[in-house]
Amino acid sequence: MNYFYGPVPSRRLGFSLGVSITPKKICTLDCLYCQLGKTTKKTVKRFFYVDLIEFKKELTKIINNNPKIDYISISGSGEPTLHKRLDKIIDTIKETTNNEYRVCVITNSSLLYKKEVRKELKKADLIIPSLDAATNKSFSRIDKPHKQIIFKKVVDGLINLRKEFKGKIWLEIMLLGGINDSLKEARIFKKIVAKINPDKVQLNLPIRPSGASIVLPDYERVKKIKKIIGKKCEIVSSFYKAAQKKFSESAQEDITKYLNIRPATMRDLEKSVGLEKNVLAKQIEKMLDLGLIIKKIYNRKVYFICDRAA
Ligand code: SF4
Repeated sequence: MNYFYGPVPSRRLGFSLGVSITPKKICTLDCLYCQLGKTTKKTVKRFFYVDLIEFKKELTKIINNNPKIDYISISGSGEPTLHKRLDKIIDTIKETTNNEYRVCVITNSSLLYKKEVRKELKKADLIIPSLDAATNKSFSRIDKPHKQIIFKKVVDGLINLRKEFKGKIWLEIMLLGGINDSLKEARIFKKIVAKINPDKVQLNLPIRPSGASIVLPDYERVKKIKKIIGKKCEIVSSFYKAAQKKFSESAQEDITKYLNIRPATMRDLEKSVGLEKNVLAKQIEKMLDLGLIIKKIYNRKVYFICDRAA
């Protein structure tokens, strides 16, 4: 099992060494914008998934190469708080790295209503919890939660987290056009944010393809929402232009750019383009149909080649 990926440049965290501690794709939610595809196991049951000896070995090997790391970020291929005893994971990271790196946990907030989850998170340096809705209606529509996850409980969990957690909290709101980007919803967000009192609020946009047809909100509207929510709010915006491209166009461009340089296998593309396997496979299929790329077998491996370069 590979528990770590990267370090990868992250829009918010600098160089982030990702940590994946739950199997794919176990989650409490099944968000419309999820890049990992549909949730295969929707649950609220927590398990201890990681083999700590292997985990430590893998991390030591990475650290010995002295990579540039700004954060070690626990997120991965499902909801990380579904892992039991997250404090043990954080402790292992801190001990193995001599406390040299800050640890961040990226969570969908759904289990923060549980006291034990908040307690386990105490040793993190930064928590990025998300809250994609200001109303129960948008919550159900966007996040399609497990039946035990109730919107009010999620908000209360976030309020309690702020009271108990001494590190930084950056609340993330993913804005989806026509669903949670009305100015009315923004005013409710403002009230909820005031109760939670995070250090920052980050408005994010679903810039990667997810399989669902999602409309990006108009940028002028995003700016208005930021203004309504107030001083702590920022737009994760340096990539807004990229976000405005249609998802498939953007993915196709990335694949073409890579294949213009060299032929590549599916695995090469997965590593370099940064798309999830299923999404990448769909894009490749589409590009083959359109004749933009061709397939060639070489040494018993399938390579994709940009048609112009073939
Ligand atoms: S919480 Fe994260 S992993 Fe779970 S469905 Fe939503 S985006 Fe995907």
